[in-house]
Amino acid sequence: MLGLLAGCLVFSGMPWAQTPAPARIFQADERYKVDILVVVAHPDDEGAATPYLARAIDAGKRVAVVYGTRGSSGANEASAEQAAALGEIREIEARRASAVLGIDKVWFLGGKDTASQDVLQSLANWDHGVVLENLVRLVRLTRPEVVLTFLPGTFIGEDHGDHQAAGVLATEAFDLAGDPTAFPEQVSAPLRRLEPYLENLRPWQTKKIYYFPDADKEDIFRDKGPRYSVKEISKSAKQAYWRVALESFERHETQAKSFIDSLAKMDEAQIEKMVTSESFWSTGINFVLGKSLVGGNVTGDIFEGIAPGAISLARPEVSSTGSKAEVLVELAGPWSYYADFRRAHGLMHLPHPDPPEIALEGGTDLVIPLWLGNQSSAAQEINLTVNAPAGWTVRSGGGKFSIAAKQTAATRIEVKLPLLGEGAGSKTDAQEVRVHAECHGQSVGDVKLRVELRKRALPE
Ligand SMILES: [Zn+2]
Repeated sequence: MLGLLAGCLVFSGMPWAQTPAPARIFQADERYKVDILVVVAHPDDEGAATPYLARAIDAGKRVAVVYGTRGSSGANEASAEQAAALGEIREIEARRASAVLGIDKVWFLGGKDTASQDVLQSLANWDHGVVLENLVRLVRLTRPEVVLTFLPGTFIGEDHGDHQAAGVLATEAFDLAGDPTAFPEQVSAPLRRLEPYLENLRPWQTKKIYYFPDADKEDIFRDKGPRYSVKEISKSAKQAYWRVALESFERHETQAKSFIDSLAKMDEAQIEKMVTSESFWSTGINFVLGKSLVGGNVTGDIFEGIAPGAISLARPEVSSTGSKAEVLVELAGPWSYYADFRRAHGLMHLPHPDPPEIALEGGTDLVIPLWLGNQSSAAQEINLTVNAPAGWTVRSGGGKFSIAAKQTAATRIEVKLPLLGEGAGSKTDAQEVRVHAECHGQSVGDVKLRVELRKRALPE
């Protein structure tokens, strides 16, 4: 008896007898945590940021890349495959391009290539809700500190609607992934064994979002974010960052075969001159600061102010539309969407052209989408007159429209653009089209759109 008691005392003095070891509980997979999540539209779009990514990876940052589509439309410069078959190849090329930089986390959202300048067409064709859900999942899985993506806006430039869609989705995911009520099935834990629907992720608030613009002119983006030299030498690769990025870009053979072949005929100095020119990477990569939830200077380093660990959800500051006239005309389509988007996502500072602008192919139709609004308590007649440059033909859309009380109606003006003559070069300077609206003989607004004619451009 005494001996037994003594034995118990001895054992109770040992820590392992008193407190059982904690049960094993699964937590988030650290192998998938990244510092930077790049969100773009097509394989090769990541090239807009690769000279910076090579630098960030040198500094120990972990990177993942998400593509909206597999880039299945467009020409194949390397072989016969087209369409969906080409998409299969482009996915592998994108993975190989990332692998050159040491990036092994690459995902595709499943959107379909949509060749237009209209972000709304791309969002519709990508199944906006489905791809947003996919992207929010990837933000919660990878828990990035920073998101890098295209600037959501419409500009004279390539202005690809798919690029814009990537920027829109990345911004939406930035604002939603930390919200436990957004796609709650992703952040719920299964209650029973083999319950296969709930994902057991945690909400994640990314700290900063930066944009790179898809516009020809860079002036409105100057000093809106940091700039990184592409000529500095990578510590790990012992060559310039542009060189590392070019080696990655060369994996996109179906998109760049003729370009890659042309490199073989150039010496290193010629190649450097070309890729550091304005039409390529220039001498530096510019970013535009979208949002920082952790302070830091606008032009400071991307990781300035970022400390390890989660931060709490920050809902965007929504700006009001202000007071509007009772009867009005407004530019609709992507332009009014982006005005609403900037207000909804706390991005009122985001650069955008004013008046709005677009580049279109000569000989095609310019369509000006309009909202006609009547918040008065009686029906109103709105008269639209269109002023277009000489040689541009207003096909339809002018004249009188009756709008019922408290209604907003959509309409459009169609203008046939002239062909660019042989002597006119490949483009003209932007010219203004103006739609003047009157109600009871009083002006109720003017809509202006600057239009640049080109030999080639994506459809509107
Ligand atoms: Zn692209």
